[in-house]
This record gives sequence, C-alpha cells and structure tokens, in this order.
Amino acid sequence: MPLPTDSGARAASSVDPARCPLCGQANRCAQSDPATRKLPCWCFSTPVSPGTLARLPEEARDKACLCPNCATLDEPG
Ligand SMILES: [Zn+2]
Repeated sequence: MPLPTDSGARAASSVDPARCPLCGQANRCAQSDPATRKLPCWCFSTPVSPGTLARLPEEARDKACLCPNCATLDEPG
C-alpha cells in the first residue's frame, strides 16, 4: 500500500549542515561554520536527549547538527 502523499520534496541527500534536521532552523553550531569551527560549540556541553537523536533521519546523522531547541527537547508524550 502506497504511503499517503509524502510531504513533497525529499531533497536527495542534500543535508544542510547549518540547519537543524528536525525543525529547519539555523542550528548555530560552531562546527558548521569555518569561521567559528575552532570555537567550542554549545553542543559540547549540552546533552542531547536520546529520543531526539532517534528521530533524526539517517542521512542527517553526523552531517547536520540539531538546534539548541530540539537538542534539549524532551520526547513528546
Ligand atoms: Zn531544531
């Protein structure tokens, strides 16, 4: 059975490393910007909830950082 309309453009393996893969906002990760790459990023000291990690699409793992919002968001429910 086909899935109901897959919400449009599934951008083929083009993950924007500067954007949060979950909400699409800028992730403000120091690592994604060459100018600030040597600076410690907020993600070094902020624990990312396991539930959030589990929701990441495969292609975004190890490529795009989460934004501070999503990283610390508790699992809904
Ligand atoms: Zn986010």
